[in-house]
Amino acid sequence: MLQTTKRPDSPVSIIGAGIAGAWQALLFAQAGHAVTLHERGDEAMTDATSHWAGGMLAPYCEAEVAEPIISRLGLRSLEVWRRELPDTPFNGSLVVAHPRERNDFERFARMTEDHRRLDAAGLAALEPSLEGRFRDALFFPAEGHVEPRRVLPKLHERIRAAGGTIKFCSDVTANDLDGIVIDCRGLGARDEQPELRGVKGEMILIETAEVQLARPVRLMHPRWPLYVIPREDNLFMLGATSIETEDTGVSVRSALELLGAAYTVHPAFGEARIVEFGSGLRPAFPDNLPRIGIRGRRITVNGLYRHGFLIAPALAELTLAYVERGQIDNEVMRCL
Ligand SMILES: Cc1cc2nc3c(=O)[nH]c(=O)nc-3n(C[C@H](O)[C@H](O)[C@H](O)COP(=O)(O)OP(=O)(O)OC[C@H]3O[C@@H](n4cnc5c(N)ncnc54)[C@H](O)[C@@H]3O)c2cc1C
Repeated sequence: MLQTTKRPDSPVSIIGAGIAGAWQALLFAQAGHAVTLHERGDEAMTDATSHWAGGMLAPYCEAEVAEPIISRLGLRSLEVWRRELPDTPFNGSLVVAHPRERNDFERFARMTEDHRRLDAAGLAALEPSLEGRFRDALFFPAEGHVEPRRVLPKLHERIRAAGGTIKFCSDVTANDLDGIVIDCRGLGARDEQPELRGVKGEMILIETAEVQLARPVRLMHPRWPLYVIPREDNLFMLGATSIETEDTGVSVRSALELLGAAYTVHPAFGEARIVEFGSGLRPAFPDNLPRIGIRGRRITVNGLYRHGFLIAPALAELTLAYVERGQIDNEVMRCL
């Protein structure tokens, strides 16, 4: 049996202020623990994978390819996002396909739940910019999306408001720290978790006032789930490739595919201004599933792969339940 580490008076140090560490810090600080969050980068967080993410909160769409545990954690996390950040947009998401991807579209519809099928008029009513572009669409009304580069600072602000301390430019190891240590270093934790690997996701940011979208639009694609996500200030994120490499460059082929996909969603994207090319490495274990590892007072939270924004709040709840009540979730937790 695992020994509980219940020491509510003990300080809690969290390493890594990406989406995993930010949610851990927030829930622990709110529960009254003396939290310090250490981040080796500066406030811009450009070294974090979280900086490059799409920020889709899409447990239903992800169920097409992900294990049921991702849906379970994702559905729980949606409630926590709604509770903690009530202004999070929950406008749903759309899935569309061109005629040649018709079979994939129908398969997607069969493999997923909680969607409505819209005809062309229904799609135009929801997203006027897409009028006449597609014959039909799948609408997942319960899904949400956040803008990572805005929501991370917001979470950091909430941590401070809950009494937590954040130290940027603080490169630490668990041995440097007293009390309970929660290691959320993403790929930086490979010194202790060598089975972690990075899965490259490339993205492009474009700007145009010619198209307005209120929700992410996924386009069926034979290789990757490609999507267009609206951001503030007429920006759109085009994402994302999924490539087994830790090279962080953006290839011409990926750029062509991402830009081409956007152009087929709406030709006005062809006139958009390219603002940024970038890529992040998704931290993944060999089974692509998240893991909370427990070794006495040291806890690791890692392997969030392509679902960090979707599942981080639920992982933080599980860690807190373990520390406070010794509660074990057998699907996610491992004794190291
Ligand atoms: C292109 C792309 C699109 C994506 N889209 C989505 C999406 O739509 N929805 C979704 O849910 N997920 C998405 N993801 C996945 C998501 O981004 C990751 O799952 C998530 O960012 C992982 O978060 P993390 O906190 O574990 O790691 P990170 O964000 O990498 O954070 C780890 C932090 O630890 C810090 N650190 C490392 N070592 C130390 C040290 N010694 N001391 C102090 N700090 C340290 C690092 O600087 C870093 O800031 C996407 C990913 C990519 C690349």
